[in-house]
Amino acid sequence: MNKPAAKLAPVLIDRFAKIVGDKHAIRDPAGQAPYLHEQRDLYQGRASLVLKPASTAEVAAVLKLAQETKTPVVPQGGNTGLVGGQIAFDDNAVVLVTTRLDRIREIDLATNSMTCEAGVVLARAQAAAAERDRLFPLSLGAEGSCTIGGNLATNAGGTQALSYGVARDLVLGLEVVLAGGRIWRGLRKLKKDNTGYDLRHLFIGSEGTLGIITTAVLKLFPAPRAVETAFVGVNSPADALALLGLAQARAGAAVTAFELMPRIGMEFVLKHLPGARDPLGEAHPWYVLIELSSPMEKNLRAVLEDLLAAGGEKGPVRDAALAASEAQRSAFWRLRTSLSDLQKPEGGSIKHDVSVPVAAVPAFIAEANAAVLQRIPGARPVPFGHLGDGNIHLNFSQPVGADKAAFVARWDEVNAIVHGVVARFGGSIAAEHGIGLLKRDLLPTVKDPVELELMRAIKRTLDPNGILNPGKVL
Ligand code: FAD
Ligand code: ZN
Repeated sequence: MNKPAAKLAPVLIDRFAKIVGDKHAIRDPAGQAPYLHEQRDLYQGRASLVLKPASTAEVAAVLKLAQETKTPVVPQGGNTGLVGGQIAFDDNAVVLVTTRLDRIREIDLATNSMTCEAGVVLARAQAAAAERDRLFPLSLGAEGSCTIGGNLATNAGGTQALSYGVARDLVLGLEVVLAGGRIWRGLRKLKKDNTGYDLRHLFIGSEGTLGIITTAVLKLFPAPRAVETAFVGVNSPADALALLGLAQARAGAAVTAFELMPRIGMEFVLKHLPGARDPLGEAHPWYVLIELSSPMEKNLRAVLEDLLAAGGEKGPVRDAALAASEAQRSAFWRLRTSLSDLQKPEGGSIKHDVSVPVAAVPAFIAEANAAVLQRIPGARPVPFGHLGDGNIHLNFSQPVGADKAAFVARWDEVNAIVHGVVARFGGSIAAEHGIGLLKRDLLPTVKDPVELELMRAIKRTLDPNGILNPGKVL
């Protein structure tokens, strides 16, 4: 970033454009604008060209030419990433947009696998699986526009990781184009394959810095026949954790989501989301959205009712509402998933995407909140997220009436406080959104030096000229 680099020469632009066809090579600034801007307004990018290849061969040809000419290439899928990884910052860069790699090549019901190109939008992959009575369980707020390639490149987490794992756990095989244009054809469908190093996992989570994922073989699961959802009022994160323990003891892997949100989050949503209703009669300090699902048509509702009843009396459950219809279920989910966006009308928000061991979440939230409030009295903590994964979006909305810009200017200072607490709990400063540019300079402060050196060595080996997403992650 900020390297002074001239725009690509017009003859080189022509050579790149020829690979994908002129129609799919965007040269004009107005056409490029949507690909150089990300939705949090944190970054404005620069580039010479936006290219939209339609095949692995075209991606390979682009990377071959880029290697020869030392042209930086920034892969981009749906441009929903939250750490700036998909934004180009060099005047001579090429943004390689994968959205035309959009074929679902195969659904193999007996193997329970689905072969998808990188630009397939996540919601479309989910729908294609559902049409064949299967589940592709990756699920996140951006699923209507994020892509499979972006999901794998960021190792996305989301709301069902509790039961099905993160993106990494959902991949059987990969096809990747390397920096010089060579293609690694690893589209295997094997559960068991111990033929040496498992290279899939190098590329998954590498945020476009090691290769461009063009196709993946994904795991499918039986479609759920029964889904039961409850919105539960609890006193504290500790009580929420107790409820998680109770739920897992009684329902095991059927506990497919367990999300936490604080009262202030509920207030933001009720105030700013048209038509939102509090499912519970009175206010509670914290809320849990719990979902059980199963491919068997067993009486999950009774299981959920029983466990909520067991959590009542002197237990963690203050009150609970069970979704009586699909409409009500999605209304419950909307309360939770719209929260991140609905912090916007409340002014500036300083955000964190962190994880700690699940058992440490209550103490972590308490300590981190106290530490930030000591520095910025009046800041409003809005910690929410995937309690079952120990992954909390520990966000702070600005004090009421404070100056937005002045508050957001304290982003690094607040990050340092929170990440200090994360470190004490043995946690991660980047649980599911990745490092990108946003956290790049923090990485050396938290990563084991040996681990960091191994990462740099891998980067040098796979991308010796440093053309793949330069300046990101490392
Ligand atoms: P982009 O944003 O385009 O790119 C992301 C990164 O991947 C960049 O570094 C890019 O260079 C790289 N990349 C993209 N495609 C490829 C490819 N084919 N090969 C190599 N590298 C590639 N994330 C979660 O984990 N959990 C959540 O719950 C969650 N919720 C979200 C909710 C909202 C409303 C939004 C806006 C985002 C959310 N995210 C969440 C962020 C998440 O990382 C992205 O939404 C998604 O995984 C990125 O996919 P994308 O196609 O938009 O990738
Ligand atoms: Zn999340």
